Amino acid sequence: MNIILMGPPGAGKGTQAARLVEKYGLVQISTGDLFRKALREQTPLGVTAQGFMQKGLLVPDEVTIQMVKEYISENTFENGFILDGFPRSIQQADELVNMAEELNFTIDAVINLDIPTDKLIARLSGRRTCKQCGSTFHIVYNPPKTEGICDNCGGELYQREDESEEAVQVRLNTYDEQTKPLIDYYTVKGQLINVDGDQSMDDVFKDIEKCLEEK
Ligand code: ADP
Ligand code: ADP
Ligand code: ZN
Repeated sequence: MNIILMGPPGAGKGTQAARLVEKYGLVQISTGDLFRKALREQTPLGVTAQGFMQKGLLVPDEVTIQMVKEYISENTFENGFILDGFPRSIQQADELVNMAEELNFTIDAVINLDIPTDKLIARLSGRRTCKQCGSTFHIVYNPPKTEGICDNCGGELYQREDESEEAVQVRLNTYDEQTKPLIDYYTVKGQLINVDGDQSMDDVFKDIEKCLEEK
């Protein structure tokens, strides 16, 4: 089972993907995480992505598509994968169709986490991310047991550089302009499943499970 997890920045994609990984043994493919790793390691990909990420803009489609294609072709997925944060533009979605044909996989569900924009700022400004394993917490909604320390691996928690108020605003605009049209795109194809993302993490997960079990 291969899934696309969509939604605006802060909707809870990473949070829900982690639960899907645990329950169904899927592999999470987070383009944001892949870019951040490349950036830390200062690979050519990371250097290219850096400026776009800091500003809250999308990394150019060709670069992103190439990265995802390489990742999918170089790894094996016994139980399937979750695309978390990809596609984020119509061009990326079109290219994913070509990629699926070429690499011989299917997309079995497109889940859209639906949440009002005014809730996102609070989610993003309180998000803390583990330097070591990438797990996310929230200072109010999902605090770690010890402040500043990851529950899962003991790593240090930090606030992402693109989480400043200004960058967040740009990311939300980028979402509206380039990513939101994918809701219509997948609705027309009859693939979109809307899940109310404005509920507790447990309730969102229950709804996702229900949708997948009906598949
Ligand atoms: P995304 O990957 O879509 O950007 P995250 O999963 O990182 O979103 O979640 C953004 C922030 O909101 C994190 O700090 C996370 O702990 C918190 N969060 C996620 N889901 C919920 C929820 N259902 N209710 C409250 N806070 C949540
Ligand atoms: P969030 O969890 O807030 O939705 P991500 O961690 O997914 O954010 O992405 C962080 C940044 O990485 C984005 O602002 C963008 O610069 C880049 N990025 C991630 N995914 C893509 C993509 N599919 N296309 C282009 N840029 C991307
Ligand atoms: Zn950790």
